[in-house]
Amino acid sequence: MSHELPQAVTARKVAPLLSVATVQERILGFTVPMPTETVALTESLGRITAQSIRTCEPFPPFPASTMDGYAVRAQDGEGVFCIQGHALAGHPVAYTQSPRQVSYITTGAPLPEGANAVVRVEDTEPMGDQVRIRVGVETGDNVRQEGSDLASGQRLISAGVKIGPIALGLLATAGISQLEVHARPRIAVLSTGDEVCSPDQVPAYGQIRDSNSPTLTHMLTCMGAKVHGGDHIAHDTQGHLREAFEFALSTSDLVISTGGVSMGELDLLPALLKDMGAELHSERVNMKPGKPFVFATVDHDTGPKLLFALPGNPVSAVVTFYVFVALAVRRLQGLAECRWPTIGVMVPEPWQRDSMRPEFHRVSLVWDPELHAGVGGYRGLSTGSQASSRLLSMLDADALVEVSPGAERIELGTVLRALDLRQW
Ligand code: AMP
Ligand code: MG
Repeated sequence: MSHELPQAVTARKVAPLLSVATVQERILGFTVPMPTETVALTESLGRITAQSIRTCEPFPPFPASTMDGYAVRAQDGEGVFCIQGHALAGHPVAYTQSPRQVSYITTGAPLPEGANAVVRVEDTEPMGDQVRIRVGVETGDNVRQEGSDLASGQRLISAGVKIGPIALGLLATAGISQLEVHARPRIAVLSTGDEVCSPDQVPAYGQIRDSNSPTLTHMLTCMGAKVHGGDHIAHDTQGHLREAFEFALSTSDLVISTGGVSMGELDLLPALLKDMGAELHSERVNMKPGKPFVFATVDHDTGPKLLFALPGNPVSAVVTFYVFVALAVRRLQGLAECRWPTIGVMVPEPWQRDSMRPEFHRVSLVWDPELHAGVGGYRGLSTGSQASSRLLSMLDADALVEVSPGAERIELGTVLRALDLRQW
């Protein structure tokens, strides 16, 4: 295949080297949450709330027994009492309980009118149609008062939160059958490179299989995005790349590509994207892995788009996804918290630092109860060679430890900050 190298590529200027924090700020600054839509509660799992949700009624909606036993008047004390009736869960009694009478009651049943406490069945003795109450109780004992779990008007869920199984249960409790959530972002994934072939092909000499698209596609799917294009590989030609990007931009809110952004002759993307009208806010970041990294915005006919062109090396692609793209995806989704949680991680062996670039060292986390004078803490076990081509170094990575550049080694026992990747 022959290649025409555009002027812009052959005479390319070196873009400024930005810090990770600067690029993250720019990404968050340009990313606006998706519009909202109404969905049924049953469809809301994994969606992000667009407004806070309050209860309209108290829960429990009636004073309920927390025990199987006898509903009593606390002031009647111990003694032998007539059983006036039965209050079973789901079958409230129709009578008002008289003084010095009791009602058999099961857990969850409404307390009969006139009663004010419940004596556990273990503290009673059956005597035919009477019962001996062997302990005294206080008013309210073993009763869940109306609204004691959820008051009417209480906030259940804030805006910008992912609906999980517990939230679903709470919303169901509160009788909320529809809710306002953010639309799911549509994301296109595109691999580029003449050497890259589909994973189901036998590579010719000089070719390698595409691992970036399957990885990124499934990371995005785990995050709840709608992903497409993951089977598309664009060649390193202007025409092919332009066509692939144009299609991706017209069908999605955010486009992620890998490859073609470093300094080689066939790294055509930065110039091409500018030529297509993209505004580039980052081209090079001071980090390892992942120095070449394009973040751009495009004012497309079909609306504003975000575009991320990641480096092709599989680890660089995944690390820049975690450090940058994931923030944009979360902000698009409407999540209030876009950044990864951070934790302190103890370095269990001396590590060499990079002399120039801050590095994200991949580790698996092991909880050590002895650390920090018995309080406990995480040791970060290195995943081995940190080569940016070695995807195996990401396989068991729970966290990315932030290692500042320098000449001296990181000594055993040093505690460093790490991005905790275990929560999606
Ligand atoms: P590039 O960023 O295009 O210079 O590519 C850097 C390295 O990543 C090269 O060794 C590529 O062969 C490799 N690479 C590029 N794209 C992919 C991909 N989709 N899957 C696996 N490796 C890739
Ligand atoms: Mg390439």
